[in-house]
Amino acid sequence: MKVVIIGASFAGVAAALEVSNRYSDAEVILLEKQVTLGYIPNGLHLYWDKKIEHLNDARFTTREQLEKEGITCCLHAEVQKINIDKKVIAYDYHGKEESIAYDKLIIATGSHQLSDKIIGGSEESVLKYKWYDQAQAALSRVKESQRVAIIGGGQVGVEAADLLIRQGKKVTLIESMDYVLFKYFDKEMIHPITRKMVEAGLDVRLQKTVSSVSMEPDNTTTVVLGNETVAADAVVMSVNVRPDLDFLDNRIELNADSTIAVDCYLRTSAKDVFAVGDCIQLSGPGEDRVYIPVINNAVRTGMVAASNLIEPTTPFKGSLRTIGTKVFDHYIASTGLTEAESAFTGRRVKSHRQEVRLSSYENAETAVLKWVYDAQNHELLGAQITSTADVLEKINTLALAIQTKQTIEALQQKDYFFHPSYVNMVSATNLVPWIGERTDRDES
Ligand SMILES: Cc1cc2nc3c(=O)[nH]c(=O)nc-3n(C[C@H](O)[C@H](O)[C@H](O)COP(=O)(O)OP(=O)(O)OC[C@H]3O[C@@H](n4cnc5c(N)ncnc54)[C@H](O)[C@@H]3O)c2cc1C
Repeated sequence: MKVVIIGASFAGVAAALEVSNRYSDAEVILLEKQVTLGYIPNGLHLYWDKKIEHLNDARFTTREQLEKEGITCCLHAEVQKINIDKKVIAYDYHGKEESIAYDKLIIATGSHQLSDKIIGGSEESVLKYKWYDQAQAALSRVKESQRVAIIGGGQVGVEAADLLIRQGKKVTLIESMDYVLFKYFDKEMIHPITRKMVEAGLDVRLQKTVSSVSMEPDNTTTVVLGNETVAADAVVMSVNVRPDLDFLDNRIELNADSTIAVDCYLRTSAKDVFAVGDCIQLSGPGEDRVYIPVINNAVRTGMVAASNLIEPTTPFKGSLRTIGTKVFDHYIASTGLTEAESAFTGRRVKSHRQEVRLSSYENAETAVLKWVYDAQNHELLGAQITSTADVLEKINTLALAIQTKQTIEALQQKDYFFHPSYVNMVSATNLVPWIGERTDRDES
């Protein structure tokens, strides 16, 4: 069985490794348009944060590691066309036209940072840094810049703002919603972090939509937002990402948002063609199909597609949009439905916010937890945590609780260890408010 995978990033690599583990007779070929593989998209943040010494250290795998597993890696191989009748792929390999036949095809060509809705979004001073060469260019541009404007207050934008403020840059963060990180958090959870941002000197412009970016003759960039402007030396684009699928056979069905339509086994509308990672929509926290371009979905869909290559045996279980990061001295993490998002789901929810001590010491650090649960059966639907202590791992426990449909009463009885140095008398993730307390202090 010849399995061709287009795109050698998280989804493509996970699929390749799973195929080579599962099917000993499979020939696995990865086609990747870049000259290197395995770059981690927030490598520049790791570098700015001094977690790595060189940008090039931000790699999750290498060609050598993959080839040791028997996977053939064709780099600098850009796919131009897929013919689903003949099961042949045409690609440009180091400037030469080549073709390859497949028995099974996995499309893992991911996404790129969009800028086409903003006039001038492709100016040289408008930085995108998902790929290694872009990150290198962004690194030197930002080094020379004193004023940086960041478009988009999602995870990438807020992380960048924190890291650039710490370098003494003058930073403006522009977000069209009325608070940052809105996809993951309810407003009141993010309020203390917004206060910290402003105290740190960040110029936060909320409810402002950027319409254009233009380069002035003196090399300054002007960012236009409504009737205001921001002057910057560099602009970081951290708005949405979208797939780029020009090479697709036009009989492969797409969704309205231009992602590839797949069923729960990650099969496309074409026989023996699968799609994974940032190319597809998934069933999300509200159970509708949504676009959630994060790495854990890329890896999990890559593995699931590989397991369904011969028979459809393993449905993909969906995504809770679980994230965790540290910004402005706060560890923040979220999984599942937010209370704000629940309004769009038709599910009646209740919520509760509480501050919990993290250990038994008198001056123990605390975390703020927000629970979002079904109003009727008390099933946990979402959780958010913020703390100055590293509580990020706890979100994975709560994601598992949501995936396995635990009620908040069941969570109170979750088994946990006690050690006075590390946990309080009751573990934070068991500390769903005691029933009586919850009834008294219910916020919804
Ligand atoms: C700046 C930034 C930071 C991020 N940080 C995080 C994070 O910390 N955590 C997280 O969960 N998510 C993060 N994300 C999101 C994450 O990058 C994506 O969800 C993830 O990379 C998707 O993986 P993928 O394999 O589906 O696609 P991609 O990583 O987009 O990779 C697709 C691959 O396909 C190749 N390709 C595309 N077209 C062709 C073609 N025609 N022929 C051959 N090859 C092709 C590309 O070169 C690329 O290597 C970040 C995104 C950005 C932009």
